[in-house]
Amino acid sequence: MTASEFTGEQLDQLETATQAATAGPWHPYFTTQGDPYVSDRENDMRGMHRLATVATSPEDYGRANAIHMAAFDPPTALKLVAAARREQQLAAATSRLVEWLRNSSWSPGRLENHEPQHHTELSTMKTSMICRCGEVWPCPLVQFHQTLDAD
Ligand SMILES: [Zn+2]
Repeated sequence: MTASEFTGEQLDQLETATQAATAGPWHPYFTTQGDPYVSDRENDMRGMHRLATVATSPEDYGRANAIHMAAFDPPTALKLVAAARREQQLAAATSRLVEWLRNSSWSPGRLENHEPQHHTELSTMKTSMICRCGEVWPCPLVQFHQTLDAD
């Protein structure tokens, strides 16, 4: 799952719905007398500012649902929407850079110029794998491509 699985329209809808909701932060409350509820006030022990009352039908009498609603309150939801948009921007910029590197005549960027080679350190006679670019194998460019291929 990546942020790119959300369309820009979906993120806009989530943001619009979130901005229309009571600002928050939200807090979950439980009492032994009444139903769990969510409030936008701290110490709202009597539920005078409750935003939602949660059904007590689940096994835990709705406590997990109240905690979930409060945890995904508007400030948190807006941060998640912003983070998803940022991830999409970074992914798009990265794709453009990778495409440019693949098509570039700039030789360090071309993947075919990055291959593993045995390297022997003459002072210690230790052998290791290095990339043709001189970095330890796999070099950052190869690691990057491996990350992309893992999707
Ligand atoms: Zn390399």
